[in-house]
Amino acid sequence: MAQPPATVWFVGAGPGDPDLITVKGRRLLERAGAILFAGSLVDQAATQYAPPGCDIRDSKDMTLDEMTAWLLDACARHDTVVRLQTGDPGLYGALVELTRPLEAAGVTWKVVPGVSSAMASAAAAGETLTLPEVTQTVILTRVAGRTPMPPGEELEALAAHRTTLCLFLSITLLHEVQRALRAAGWAEDAPVVVVHKASWPGEEQVVRGTLADIKKKCQAAKIASQAMIIASPALGARAWPDLARSKLYDPAFGHRFRKARSPATELAAAAGLTSSGDPA
Ligand code: SAH
Repeated sequence: MAQPPATVWFVGAGPGDPDLITVKGRRLLERAGAILFAGSLVDQAATQYAPPGCDIRDSKDMTLDEMTAWLLDACARHDTVVRLQTGDPGLYGALVELTRPLEAAGVTWKVVPGVSSAMASAAAAGETLTLPEVTQTVILTRVAGRTPMPPGEELEALAAHRTTLCLFLSITLLHEVQRALRAAGWAEDAPVVVVHKASWPGEEQVVRGTLADIKKKCQAAKIASQAMIIASPALGARAWPDLARSKLYDPAFGHRFRKARSPATELAAAAGLTSSGDPA
């Protein structure tokens, strides 16, 4: 019997809240014949949206070879097979290791992006990751665990840029994060936020601290897994007395959708008058 033309969809489930999967991802789950999901962070989305009779399997106790075998077997029986991953599949998701054997077997695969936990953590804390004239760059990284960092990507070197840092997979290595930021010259009172289970209804925890005390605060809160560390010169900006305004909304800065106004026209506009002095 001919094999159905199956596609394996690598779907980003988002950070945990089943409402944060994309519409496209949810539609794929709703018509999936088989779903291989990545551990406890995304099981709710899988079970909530899957159709009755769907073959659902947690991959947490499987090796990569076993996962590949499972996906290939599912492809022989279903046309829509979903590999559901936390956040976005392109970040720390073993995407290449999983897609290469599928490709070698002639199976079509596609990726549906997801809301990364970096974004969900910033949202949970009510923080912006970029701020005009403070930092315009976000570095998504980790410290070395069993996976070593490639040369030049040591946290100490990246932190020297003084940009926003979102650290994945590093909560058990907070001492190493502290050491690297200190070595890069960050002040002891530099703000650091740790978000545990961002977006999880009823389980999310936001711990605000400084380079000096964040480890103690996380220990006190018993946070040892599933956490994002954000270190950024923009943290806490909502409480700052002075703030450089975004150029996009600056009256003197024109763009495709709005002409620049001179300070005089701006005053007139604020007073409800046109540039000729007539009421607007
Ligand atoms: N692809 C995922 C990351 C997988 S690596 C993404 O885009 O988010 C796993 C790491 O992601 C965890 O160690 C933790 O640092 C982070 N993480 C995943 N879900 C999280 C959540 N809900 N809250 C905080 N951090 C989370």
